[in-house]
Amino acid sequence: MSGHFRGCVTPSNCWCELKRYGLVFLFAIAIFAFEVIGGIIILITDWVWVDPLISAIIAIIMARWTWGLINKLRTGGTDIDNCLHDHH
Ligand SMILES: [Zn+2]
Repeated sequence: MSGHFRGCVTPSNCWCELKRYGLVFLFAIAIFAFEVIGGIIILITDWVWVDPLISAIIAIIMARWTWGLINKLRTGGTDIDNCLHDHH
């Protein structure tokens, strides 16, 4: 039963492995997104010399936006997974 998600009832025929890859993929996207955002923030602060407060606000907005995107992706993945399970 190792490597299977909790609630997995069909270990011989399931999507656990696929889900694990999905999670790794999402994790990679999250890291990539945060790196890009960090880069953008550095660019903005270098470029226009915004004050620390404004750059902090930008950072919070961007972090929230990224988190929303990741959540959306995650929910989408779950929906796809549910579909696959329903019609399996
Ligand atoms: Zn499983």
